[in-house]
Amino acid sequence: MSEVLIPLAHGTIGEELGWQERALCAQTDPEAFFPEKGGSTREAKKVCRACEVRAECLEYALQHDERFGIWGGLSERERRKLKRQAV
Ligand code: SF4
Repeated sequence: MSEVLIPLAHGTIGEELGWQERALCAQTDPEAFFPEKGGSTREAKKVCRACEVRAECLEYALQHDERFGIWGGLSERERRKLKRQAV
């Protein structure tokens, strides 16, 4: 029987789980990815640099307008900047 995929605004649940299952941050301290305001993002970014799904993660965050935390190695501010440059 074929798999039922529920369409989302972007992609499918199946696709999203595909990369999230390989997320390196899932094996680390999730709090490092949501630092307090002004807190260090260095540790999280270090993990992202070694993550094999970094591109997918960043694309997901940009598409879903994720406001908080480190995604794909970029902070909220860096993602906003990237979006402005892309326009
Ligand atoms: S790029 Fe960073 S935030 Fe995204 S899944 Fe990988 S480790 Fe997690």
